[in-house]
Amino acid sequence: RMFMSKTLYIVVPCYNEQEVLPETAKRLLEKLQSLVLKNKIADNSRIMFVNDGSKDQTWSMIKGLCEENSVFAGVNLSRNRGHQNALLPGMASAVKYADMIVTMDADLQDPPSLLPEMYRILKEEPYDSVATRRSTRKGEPKIRSFLSKEFYNVINKISKTEIVSGARDYRLMNRKMVDAVLEMSEYNRFSKGIFGWVGFRTKWLEYENVERAKGETKWN
Ligand code: UDP
Ligand code: MG
Repeated sequence: RMFMSKTLYIVVPCYNEQEVLPETAKRLLEKLQSLVLKNKIADNSRIMFVNDGSKDQTWSMIKGLCEENSVFAGVNLSRNRGHQNALLPGMASAVKYADMIVTMDADLQDPPSLLPEMYRILKEEPYDSVATRRSTRKGEPKIRSFLSKEFYNVINKISKTEIVSGARDYRLMNRKMVDAVLEMSEYNRFSKGIFGWVGFRTKWLEYENVERAKGETKWN
């Protein structure tokens, strides 16, 4: 394996994402294929959509994508478990085959254009993980920005694990870190806390806030 390129799985939780899914699939496919063609990642790398109990056409669209192209994979959860808890079965399925995992949202708020740079850092620099945070909250409702800011103020006062403000669940991790994250048996998962708590060497990339490409926020 030492001289072979590694297998990357991109894990994408989806809840009622029928509007944006075709575009997301297309953009991720382009990125993945170009990394494969440049021999940077192995050709058994996959884009894995986790259907989190959607009530719209999301799951049938995921099945359609899988039939069209074996680069797509799907996990279907029996009911809606929430973004944070949907990541877990997705990562658990992916880790059976993957050397590296990316987690990202389905709505293109996590720019696929960062993927090559995230991959380069993990390969060339001494990190176990490349994480992302937004440098701005431009375009977000004021009340939401306010509540989020207060949340980070309070949680960082009471928690010894640093919870990075503006951190996204857009992150590339090596196998070592994925295994540690999966070993945590928290039931109601708060991944920003878990990712920080397990430690490991993480490099942070910043980018300007991007608004969801299509569909509606499920944030509550
Ligand atoms: N999501 C999910 N289950 C849920 C709610 C959301 O899997 O119960 C997914 C959603 O499809 C998206 C990601 O989590 O891929 C983030 O959701 P959203 O964009 O609505 O949140 P926001 O970006 O507004 O925080
Ligand atoms: Mg979003």
